Amino acid sequence: MVDQHPASTVVVVGALNVDAVVRAPRLPAPGETVVGPHVTWHGGGKGANAAVAAARAGARTQLIGAVGADDQGRSTLRELAAEGVDIGGVASLDDSATGVALIVVDAQAENQIAVGLGANADLTPEYVARALEGRLHAAGCVLVSTEITPGAVIAAVDAASRAGVPVILNPAPVIAAVARCISGATVITPNESEADLLLELIGGSTGGRREERWSELAERAAASVVVTLGSEGVAVVQPGEPVVVVPARSVSAVDTTGAGDTFNGVLAARVAAGDDLREAVAFAVAAASLSVTRAGARGGMPTFDAIAAFSG
Ligand code: ATP
Repeated sequence: MVDQHPASTVVVVGALNVDAVVRAPRLPAPGETVVGPHVTWHGGGKGANAAVAAARAGARTQLIGAVGADDQGRSTLRELAAEGVDIGGVASLDDSATGVALIVVDAQAENQIAVGLGANADLTPEYVARALEGRLHAAGCVLVSTEITPGAVIAAVDAASRAGVPVILNPAPVIAAVARCISGATVITPNESEADLLLELIGGSTGGRREERWSELAERAAASVVVTLGSEGVAVVQPGEPVVVVPARSVSAVDTTGAGDTFNGVLAARVAAGDDLREAVAFAVAAASLSVTRAGARGGMPTFDAIAAFSG
């Protein structure tokens, strides 16, 4: 039986966005316009989404990032506070716009996303280092994703690893800075294409079976690698050990937007609660499978009780 451990704290460093979502019959090809009848607006950004997932999964959750001092930024912060996320580490920047993600979802629930980083691109390494300083002593896990400045990613991973706090690094997207701080990561959580890009970035060989490439990635990074595989589930790869696939639950998928964020946030919540990696992954896979059964990046993010009931 999974124990909630209410005192465990996750610190998330990553992007906050607003998402504009259009449902269309199919994704646009280059140069093409596709049309859908509705547009909906949601809070988004990989950092903010993962923070919501961690908070719903029962972790005390603090978010470090930036929004613009505009209406979108204010509503973003209100929404996060209502989710129980501590937003004391989110800067509100006068000269920046809040980041925006333009998302198209097709009839098969596949998505295509373009992100305008806005304030996320103005998050400085100095700000992140300062914000982490007062928070690391109580942190059970730091989750870092990469839709922010390279310097901010490096500052976050370096500070957390120096303090001996487990670091989950979600290299989405894969940016060159990841190569400079990968040695500080405890767990790396790419999807399948990100795993290949990351291996290439750190000088690995890109041929062979996918399991061989993932093992090489784990060896070179000297970290556990958890590759998210959509409806297949995830592959857990620990250096020197065989690859273990944890299958996703069979569900009727409505919208896979944010499945990775749910997985990362819940994984961080369970690592902070003291689970070993396999236990944490199993719980996070159940949460991510549940999340795709409802629309919106956050719409389907489950509570601790819902995940526990679904897992059991
Ligand atoms: P995104 O960037 O769209 O949030 P991602 O590419 O980082 O996602 P995915 O591998 O698509 O991540 O999904 C993360 C996890 O969500 C998977 O490992 C799996 O556990 C769960 N998941 C995703 N799609 C499905 C599905 N169709 N059915 C069941 N579970 C799913």
